[in-house]
Amino acid sequence: AQDSAADTRQQQLNLIKQADLTHHLHPFTDDNALKQHGPLVVTAAKGTRLFVETGIQLLDMVAGLGCVNIGYGREDMAERAAQVVGELSFYHTFQGATNPYTAVLAKKLSEMTPGHLNKSFFTNSGSEANETIVKLARAYWRLKGKPEKIQVVAREYAYHGSTLMTASLNGLPAMHQAYGLPLDGVHHIPSTAWYRNGGDQSPEDFALTCARALEAKVERIGADRIGLLFVEPVQVGAGVVFSSPAYWAELQRIAKAHDILIAVDETVTGFGRMGEWVYHPKLGIEADFVCLAKGMSSGYQPVGAAMVADHVAEVLAEGGVTQHGFTTSGHPVVAGLCLKNIEILAQEYLLDTVRESLGPRFQDRLQSLADHPLVGEVRGEGLAAGIELVADKATRRQYPLDQGVCGQISNAALMQGVVVRPVGNALVLCPPLVVNDAEIEHTVSVLESALDEVHGRLTGGD
Ligand code: PMP
Repeated sequence: AQDSAADTRQQQLNLIKQADLTHHLHPFTDDNALKQHGPLVVTAAKGTRLFVETGIQLLDMVAGLGCVNIGYGREDMAERAAQVVGELSFYHTFQGATNPYTAVLAKKLSEMTPGHLNKSFFTNSGSEANETIVKLARAYWRLKGKPEKIQVVAREYAYHGSTLMTASLNGLPAMHQAYGLPLDGVHHIPSTAWYRNGGDQSPEDFALTCARALEAKVERIGADRIGLLFVEPVQVGAGVVFSSPAYWAELQRIAKAHDILIAVDETVTGFGRMGEWVYHPKLGIEADFVCLAKGMSSGYQPVGAAMVADHVAEVLAEGGVTQHGFTTSGHPVVAGLCLKNIEILAQEYLLDTVRESLGPRFQDRLQSLADHPLVGEVRGEGLAAGIELVADKATRRQYPLDQGVCGQISNAALMQGVVVRPVGNALVLCPPLVVNDAEIEHTVSVLESALDEVHGRLTGGD
């Protein structure tokens, strides 16, 4: 009987895989590779664990895509979802309509962020929130009598989304090529990824050179044409790259001197990953717009928010009807889940734990990998870390990306049941905030062995 149950499960799995292969166009997936290896079928998840295919368990050290901050499959979230679906399964927020969950969530977000951020526009994703910010900035400059200030600056390696405008903002050329992007009026300045691009400059000098690239851009294009600068407090697309307070101060000095609004994309860094509700105030950044997403619902529902500073909101209020909105902007069930998620983060002291104990222990344990011959640098804070790979430590020379070394290491870790994310030449870790010490320890030993395995292959050792 056990055998026949297993057979049935295997048959069901095959049907699912076949349906997927035939009919599902996946995001960020190579269709040919998919045909060869087949899809990864995830059937359940709990806490930090994924259950795939027929019962294999994986430790998810990436929290989905950096979003499942409170961990998977919580009963209290399931109860909240059922409760709100029962009460108010949907109503829109157009033309002044609201509901108790969305209104209270908007208030909550303003309490969690600096005092001048008091209004939120709700979306279904980080991309839509960033796209909203670009449109609101255009409306703002129009109302200020400067409609030509519609050009936008972002940084190399940035990731801001997958819509036409937000993909244009991305500083990752691979995301432009197939689509004839970037759109007109989007410009990029260097990222502070010193390990890769800093050459002989000290990290401090390199960071200031990067900041001053904004000044050069303004000189070339004109302050009368640039209205908005997009930044992430931590660049995950560059392999979890940080920038110093001196860099942020210089970048802001230049932006303010030329009347350029600053949009801070907290999609990954918000809701406790860095031990704070939002991370940018700690870096001394003053935001005119803030993008929130991912950890806002811990991935229990699609969501995003574009937060607007008071001085911008006051100007926008003069513009009449906001000609912008999504059917499900401020969806009551989503807002209800975001509120419960925020309550859990607070009641379980998850931010304090990440900031004061779990984060430092996580970073400390990962540092033990820095001596490995394949590892150039281990960077991180809170529960975000990047392990930068290197071919030659003395010159910081990297393996060519098409050699796929990073992917080989993450695959070797996956074979041992641990999910980490290859991003260019860096392994990225951003686990759920409920990860425990034993899981961190296990991850370090799996990564050690994965690094050894790939290093052995690269040096012909086995
Ligand atoms: N900004 C950042 C910094 C992100 O990491 C992401 C998602 N990876 C986005 C924006 C886009 O969010 P979404 O995928 O929800 O559209």
